[in-house]
Amino acid sequence: MFAVLLLTVTMPVRLSTVEANPAALAQHPAVARALRAADDLSEWTLAEQVRVTEIPAPPFQEGERARYLEAQFRQFGLEQVRIDAIGNVLGEYRGHDANSWVVLAAHLDTVFPPETPVRVAREGKRLVGPGISDNGNGLATLLAVVRALRTAKVVTAGSILFVANVGEEGEGNLRGIKHLLDDQGLRQKIRALIAIDGSGNDRLTRRALGSKRLEVTVRGPGGHSWGDFGLPNPIQALARAVTELAGVSIPEKPRTVLNVGVIEGGTSVNSIPYQASTKIDIRSEGAEQIKRLEAAVRQAVERAVEAENKAARRSEILQAEFKTIGERPGGEVPESARIVQVFRAVDSHLGIQTQFRTASTDANVPIALGMEAVAVSGGGRSGSSHSLREWYDPTERELGTKRILLALLLLAGVEL
Ligand SMILES: [Zn+2]
Repeated sequence: MFAVLLLTVTMPVRLSTVEANPAALAQHPAVARALRAADDLSEWTLAEQVRVTEIPAPPFQEGERARYLEAQFRQFGLEQVRIDAIGNVLGEYRGHDANSWVVLAAHLDTVFPPETPVRVAREGKRLVGPGISDNGNGLATLLAVVRALRTAKVVTAGSILFVANVGEEGEGNLRGIKHLLDDQGLRQKIRALIAIDGSGNDRLTRRALGSKRLEVTVRGPGGHSWGDFGLPNPIQALARAVTELAGVSIPEKPRTVLNVGVIEGGTSVNSIPYQASTKIDIRSEGAEQIKRLEAAVRQAVERAVEAENKAARRSEILQAEFKTIGERPGGEVPESARIVQVFRAVDSHLGIQTQFRTASTDANVPIALGMEAVAVSGGGRSGSSHSLREWYDPTERELGTKRILLALLLLAGVEL
């Protein structure tokens, strides 16, 4: 049997990092190669976007798409590729420092239920299909960045963690990113987190839109519409509550919304329902507005149930139950934060007018934890998101990829 001895000599000298400005960075030979690769990979990225989009990834059923991303992470040379306990796909691009990480993440899930046809159609320059932009683009851009870095053999100072995460949309409730950052050991090593979501070369989200989603269920005895008339009616109670909510004042600043999105209940036209429920979405740029409106919902429902019980001719009463079905922490990263400065510098270098946005994304979680985090979008344009007619136009998509590449490399540092 052979025994192979490998002697490794480690250099004690740390290489210096490129000065933190995008113009200088873009001239670094390896970085210049990576930027060219972003151009060369344009067609491939688009094809990849279609492939990913055509693998269904309904909420809580991201497994098949996750396995595809896992295979791609492996094929394109990331290390320690794995799927964690909650279903996130992780892959490492090791730099010299294994104690300093920048995370680049894109969510796997869509808003579409399992039976949705996910075929992508070409209509002129546009691709049309549910999820083609949100987040087919985010995932394809993530892979394009991996390939560009590997092709160009960029050596970074810090390490980069690529993440295709579960649970961004709706009732997924940011569970993928929450799980990732629950790991205290990892969290302390993360210097910055960039979430790629949807499309647009100029978007920068440093304000995280907080939200609270409630499901209210009103239950009663139920009965026959003729024989039991006079019993309190859960649908009527909810109708009273919703009517009151329609009159609640909603400020324009901080921008705030309250939406009664679902109302359901009852079994037949000649029955007094035994149950009715509603789902309500509250969002605001101001945390205090969320609290105020949640209290308003509870009050309106309690008052409505009381009124309905009072109006009933029988002693049986209705009861309301409140359940939180979504809670996204809000907050903001200051404009002076390094991650914001880096994107501004990159944008001015690339001739992009930064458009600041307030949105609810995976970046909410790190932002609420006080970490440096933003959400950006993959390159190109899109519209009709979250609909079956969602479209994507790849014009100038390379610009968006380069923007993310440069910002990522400025944050991680590149070795000379
Ligand atoms: Zn999204």
